[in-house]
Order: sequence, then C-alpha cells, then structure tokens
Amino acid sequence: MISSEQAQEFINTAHQAAEFNLLKCSSGNLSMRLSDRHVAVSASGAWLGSLQPEQIAICNIETGESLNSIKPSIESYFHVGILKHRRDVNVVLHFQSSYATILACSNPENYIDKLHNTIEMPAYIGQPAIVEYAMPGSMELAESIIDKFKTENTNIAILKNHGQVSIGVDSKDAIQKAVFFEMNCMIALTSLSLKSLSTDQQKEIADLGKA
Ligand SMILES: [Zn+2]
Repeated sequence: MISSEQAQEFINTAHQAAEFNLLKCSSGNLSMRLSDRHVAVSASGAWLGSLQPEQIAICNIETGESLNSIKPSIESYFHVGILKHRRDVNVVLHFQSSYATILACSNPENYIDKLHNTIEMPAYIGQPAIVEYAMPGSMELAESIIDKFKTENTNIAILKNHGQVSIGVDSKDAIQKAVFFEMNCMIALTSLSLKSLSTDQQKEIADLGKA
C-alpha cells in the first residue's frame, strides 16, 4: 500500500515542516495521497519533527479507516476528506506557525486585506479561508474545513484559535504555501507602516501565475 519511496517522502516532508518552524512539538499533522484508494496520515500523538516509519497510518480514502492498525491523528477526518474531494491535491499539512497562529487568535477577518503584502500571497496562496472554532478532532470542525477546500481557490485555511491548513500538488508546494503564509502574517502583524499590494497588483500577479 505504501512504497519505501513514498514512506521516505512522507517522513522527509514531516521533518521539513518542523525544520521550517511550522510546528510546536506534537502540534500539526500530515497526509499524502498514495493511490486512488489510499492515503497516508501521520499517527495519533506523533511529533512530525521526529516522525518514524511506524508512525504512518494507511487509510482508506472513502471510509477514513486505518488499514495497517496504526491509529491516525484525531484530525485525520479532514485530511482524508480534502484528499477525497480535491483530486488536484496530493498533500495536506496542518500546521501551527507562530505569527499565523497569533492571527488565528485575533479576529482574522480584520487582517485579510493586510495579508496581501508581498507577491507570494497572490502568486501562491490567494484568498485564505477562515474556519470558525470547533473542538479539535470533531466532525463539526472537519466538515467546516472540508467545505472551505471544496472550492478550487482555497489553498490555506485559518482555523480560529487553533492553527492552519495548507494543501499542495506535492510536498514542496504545501510547505512553501505554509512558509510564505507565515511570512505574510508576520508582516501583517508587525509592520508599523504597512502598505498592501493594490487589488490590481494582486490580480496582475495571480494572472501571471496562471499563464
Ligand atoms: Zn489541530
């Protein structure tokens, strides 16, 4: 169900997410599409920064059920749901980087316009989605997250008082979006004379990305 190359890539991605300071200890979890029917999800309680091969749960994409008796993260339901509904997405990273999490706890609606401060925001992320607080691991939270990602335009979700979710066609894409989003949040929260990109400038860069 998982090749040694896929397992190695999964582990490398988990470790990289920690190296880029996207996580705090046991916070965050990761998933990756393995085939039409199977996805890999980091195990319950695992620290991504030191993830080991025996901490990769293989789950059925339709039911979410673990097929290798390794218990997936309690947040696996939204991972599997996003991968099921977005066939263009192969990697889902749930992270908790510092500035992005301050923003998630600070009425993120007020910062949406301020986030478009460098070209990476329109180029790689676009408009982030905001998900209302619900208990971590609950179906209610998972359904709200999946719902936001059903639109092709959502690349990052801000989970109020919790953290963030990034998606990508591959590991690099998902990590890159998370790293740039953290940078855009840091600028939005700390700049003393912030001037965001104009709507026209954002559109110009977004169009360039599609060309
Ligand atoms: Zn979480």
